[in-house]
Amino acid sequence: MDTITRHGLKSVPIKKLRLPGDVATRRRSQHVLDLGRSFALTGGEPLAPIIVEWGTWKLIAGADRIAACLNRGVKEVDVLTVEGEPDALAELALIENAMRRHSAAEQEAAIAKLVAMHTAREQAGAFPDVPDDATQGDDRVKVTRSRGGRKRGSRKARTQAYADVAAATGKTPKAVKSAAHRAKKKAERAAAPAEKPAPVIETFGLAVPEAILDATSKQHSVLTEMANKLTALKSALTRLENEAGMQFQGLKTALDTAAREARGELPASVCPYCKDPDGTARRRDGCNACGGAGWLRARAVAHNESGAAPTAMGLPPVNAAKGNSST
Ligand SMILES: [Zn+2]
Repeated sequence: MDTITRHGLKSVPIKKLRLPGDVATRRRSQHVLDLGRSFALTGGEPLAPIIVEWGTWKLIAGADRIAACLNRGVKEVDVLTVEGEPDALAELALIENAMRRHSAAEQEAAIAKLVAMHTAREQAGAFPDVPDDATQGDDRVKVTRSRGGRKRGSRKARTQAYADVAAATGKTPKAVKSAAHRAKKKAERAAAPAEKPAPVIETFGLAVPEAILDATSKQHSVLTEMANKLTALKSALTRLENEAGMQFQGLKTALDTAAREARGELPASVCPYCKDPDGTARRRDGCNACGGAGWLRARAVAHNESGAAPTAMGLPPVNAAKGNSST
């Protein structure tokens, strides 16, 4: 069973402690500045003890409080010195975080880790039976409470873990369950590889630089939304015409034209003239059709396919598609 031995409170110089590397950053955070001000109400030092490992002086819990003490020019602090296996000390730090961290996300992450830890132990039947009255003795505090020694089903183990973590952190099992759930979802979202959307332009199987894929995708979504809204507005006008017995022909035509214009601007294809979207073939930069962009809009591609003279658009003749485009 994991236990923590408390060696009691001790006043030690802060410079004797082994602090995490981010203390300097913490000192500038608003939370730490507020914390420092609150010490005026608690005798110049934090009320809750900073926890330090006995012998090594490694900080287990209280990095923000230490940062606030440093901001106030405090040289010596009261720390609670404890001793235990690395697992038990890690759990103590998590319990501290779950109870004290000012960020809800950090609290929930700590709760989720505690739940996972306790569930695994419950399932492994790691808790030997102890009598109910064997609770907190003299200087021994059980970080984890004992349960039956046999293996448990995963559902039952999890329920028990919620209860244990709730007891250790002063929360309700229901709050622990929701916090763990939210933290798990958040971790899953962070871990999931960002799904690559399909290119919105015809790529002809060519390698297209990320910058072009991103830009065309963004333009595609803005222009599509715009065109759809314009079309919806035109439909609204038609309904109004029917209801009110009025005519908005000019306005409807204008909306129609604008929607068509927007769709004409949609990114459509890797430039079929230079077929050199990433510039490696050295045709892109001299290409009049795409102006070096490497891709074309729907309007320009339609010209190309219909065989209409693209020169009217400042584009080279269609037959330049297969060969040298630098004319
Ligand atoms: Zn081109």
